[in-house]
Amino acid sequence: MKNFIIFGPPGAGKGSQCIILSKRYNFKHISTGDILREEVKRESELGLKAKNLMDKGELVSDALIIAIIERVLVNSNGVAGFLYDGFPRTVKQSEALEALLIKLGQKIDAVISLQTDEDVIIQRIQGRAAIEGREDDARTDVVKKRLEVYREQTHPLIEIYKKKGIYHPINGNLTIEQNFAEICEFIDQQ
Ligand code: ADP
Repeated sequence: MKNFIIFGPPGAGKGSQCIILSKRYNFKHISTGDILREEVKRESELGLKAKNLMDKGELVSDALIIAIIERVLVNSNGVAGFLYDGFPRTVKQSEALEALLIKLGQKIDAVISLQTDEDVIIQRIQGRAAIEGREDDARTDVVKKRLEVYREQTHPLIEIYKKKGIYHPINGNLTIEQNFAEICEFIDQQ
């Protein structure tokens, strides 16, 4: 069982890569953002708790996110591995993932980090707002807040994964196909 974290700021292209990578390798794509949006649509208890925070560009509580991940990991059969998209986003979440994987006799194989420039990110988020209609993409103040939250709470994870020797940066400014080719080349060596 392989576990790859697809890392990067909002709009870096994590979701696009995960969709095609999951097909190529029979990995389960775990996007905490997609799961939360689904819960919001269903108006579940979790969705109601998450909506307000997501609309403001703030993070949902670690406890809720960790519970989601645990549920998905335990209930996934017949896959060759997992791709984490938008998770972990805090030190606490990364510690919880590590503990959970140890319990399951697994480990994080690599953190594949899409290094994407801020002007490219803003362009991609604006493009996505027009296509997908996500409210948090359409508002400049919310996009700015999400980038700030990334810098403060998520970016520090890079040092942690570098120290563990599993951090693998790639240039996220290229086309979807070019990034895909580069990531596949790396995964094939793992
Ligand atoms: P993006 O990568 O463009 O920021 P996501 O779909 O990953 O979009 O996340 C959308 C929103 O969902 C985040 O702004 C946050 O409110 C919430 N969210 C998603 N994943 C997490 C997580 N791991 N921890 C806390 N909140 C999360």
